[in-house]
Amino acid sequence: MSEIPVLQGPPIEAKSPFELRVNLGRHVSESDVRSALSSGNMGFLHSFTTGAAVDGPGVRVVAWTTGCQMRCLYCHNPDTWTMTNGFPITLESATEQLRKYRHGLKVMSGGFTLSGGEPLMQNRFAVKLFAAAKSLGIHTALDTNGYLGGRLTDAELDVIDLVMLDIKIWTPDRHRALTGVDIGPVLEFARRLAARKKAIWLRYVLVPGWSDDPVEIDAVAHFAGALGVVERVDILPFHQLGRFKWDELGIEYRLRDTGEPSISAVEQACARFRTAGLTAY
Ligand code: SF4
Repeated sequence: MSEIPVLQGPPIEAKSPFELRVNLGRHVSESDVRSALSSGNMGFLHSFTTGAAVDGPGVRVVAWTTGCQMRCLYCHNPDTWTMTNGFPITLESATEQLRKYRHGLKVMSGGFTLSGGEPLMQNRFAVKLFAAAKSLGIHTALDTNGYLGGRLTDAELDVIDLVMLDIKIWTPDRHRALTGVDIGPVLEFARRLAARKKAIWLRYVLVPGWSDDPVEIDAVAHFAGALGVVERVDILPFHQLGRFKWDELGIEYRLRDTGEPSISAVEQACARFRTAGLTAY
């Protein structure tokens, strides 16, 4: 790999992942991107932020990766779809970021969450960064759409304490229409996590006209309840905070006129998950 030029641009830390970031890695050649992906010694990140609650237990440092193979109609961070919209960062620098926070994270019973985009688009980097976090004694969580879970070996799963798994919708045709991909690999990964007794926090984005259908909710709830390892379900209400990104990026945004779900719709969705024996918020 040739030497990667130092990033000149926005700071590594962002107030939130809602900051639009594009082309930060445009100076990285295609061969260097390929080399980074296969070695895992360099990754591409949108930003680092600090978070809590929905990003995992306690106070979290969250690294947002770029690159995603899904195209969810409701995605609020479409700038993370393209790997080179992120900035290149060496494994060493990313580890250094974690080292800065290690004591605070321990005191606050928090940890490190790798989110995206889809972190497993950069699975080598993800695994190496998780291993580095574990060696610093930091709790690790992977926030994933699950589609590429098959890229992780069982041993690699062992450096991840918690998997925060999105299930977007149940019916295969609707899943394909909503995300652009099949649901099969996602469910396969969920079953594999269950077989390995790996803790899951399930995330379900409630999108009016799509995933608010009780038939969809009940099917996901039934599946999740039967896994036996889902510790908590977070219902994430659809919102329009990412609309400006679609506009700025010039991508057709089909949910432009979709409203947020009502408080009672969110409550009813929670109740349906609770009926399946799950803790839902
Ligand atoms: S999986 Fe996440 S990042 Fe990827 S398109 Fe869907 S919402 Fe966006």
